[in-house]
Amino acid sequence: MEKLVALCKRRGFIYPGSEIYGGLQGTWDYGPLGAILKQNIKQEWWKSMVQERSDVVGVDAAIMMNPTVWKASGHLEAFTDPLVECMICHSRFRADKKEEIETHEETHKGESVEWTEPKKFNLLVEAKLGVIEGEKQTVYLRGEITQGAFVNFENVVSSTRVKIPFGVAQIGKAFRNEITPGNFTYRSREFEQMELEYFIEPSDKEGDKWFDYWKDQRMNWYVDLGFDKKKLRFRKHEDSERAHYAKFAEDIEYEAPFGWSEFEGIHHRGDWDLSRHKLQYVGEDGQKFTPWVIEASGGVDRSLLFFLIDSYREDEKRVWLSLNPKLAPYKVAVFPLLANKPELVKRAKRIYEDLKPHFMTAWDDRGNIGKRYLSQDEAGTPWCVTVDFQTLEDSTVTIRDRDTGKQDRFKADSLQSYFLKKLS
Ligand SMILES: [Zn+2]
Repeated sequence: MEKLVALCKRRGFIYPGSEIYGGLQGTWDYGPLGAILKQNIKQEWWKSMVQERSDVVGVDAAIMMNPTVWKASGHLEAFTDPLVECMICHSRFRADKKEEIETHEETHKGESVEWTEPKKFNLLVEAKLGVIEGEKQTVYLRGEITQGAFVNFENVVSSTRVKIPFGVAQIGKAFRNEITPGNFTYRSREFEQMELEYFIEPSDKEGDKWFDYWKDQRMNWYVDLGFDKKKLRFRKHEDSERAHYAKFAEDIEYEAPFGWSEFEGIHHRGDWDLSRHKLQYVGEDGQKFTPWVIEASGGVDRSLLFFLIDSYREDEKRVWLSLNPKLAPYKVAVFPLLANKPELVKRAKRIYEDLKPHFMTAWDDRGNIGKRYLSQDEAGTPWCVTVDFQTLEDSTVTIRDRDTGKQDRFKADSLQSYFLKKLS
């Protein structure tokens, strides 16, 4: 973990938030490489959840919402109790629920469990809106992006052609007053979610079917993007830990260096939200009903962290990130073999300029070729193209593979189609 945190800072993936002013606990800034990686994760998610489906549409709702939303959703109520937190696993419980606390202590077989002092804790982050002091309205920075999909339920139904079952997808920032941020970016106060709310007919049969369906879909998405299958698992929520809106819930967990950790939740929210917002759907036969909702709620920052951890490789010679090329910040790096040979630099620059409009392409002419390879390995760049003296004779270049270190000669004028094919 320490090595990864150092690499993130050194190479510009992730920096501590507001670092020059001593930071702000629980906030992080993404640097040049991290920002692209994050974009790529979100793009892949949107592609599989919206673009490639005919039953899902996307929204992008406001971060600040009418406070009544949070009253209706139960968040104001459910998050203002005095909470104590288990110092081992950071589960929180109402301080007055002695039984739940005892039951929880039993789950840490034999370990002595310490608890934080009870705190009246609202996880929602407050902000003041308005221009006249004293007349400012308290609003909340959304504690989950989810409600943006629900409050627009009628708008989406009337402005698109969706019919139940259908989904509303969204990616965006959410904010929580976490008692104890920690484990690098894992527990942050500001984070990004990628969520699907999938509306179905209200029946146990449909509920079970779609819950299992989305569990599979979401797990496969992570595996297809390269996660080590052995480090992923589902974990069912116990009755006591389920959120106030969930009928049942399962997490996708990753075996991080700090233990098995949740980074996506599949939740059966039943009719909790729509009935709280008094929203209904009119079926084909004109009958009104309140749909149920299956939710797949993933953390962008958490999956980014786990993609990095999972792809971290080292041997005695080098450190590299074996990121799926679709996620890698730079797809290709182009080098002239020698920076002081103008004919090599000119030819390499031309290849670089040709590739740049099609995918993120890096340029490097510092130091020797070995150092440039090492530098690209740490950034997770899958392929390095080198222009050498043979290029000037027969228009071939070397392509060096990040994971195997193997080099092949390839025709310079078909590089673009070659890489595009690899990335499709
Ligand atoms: Zn615990």
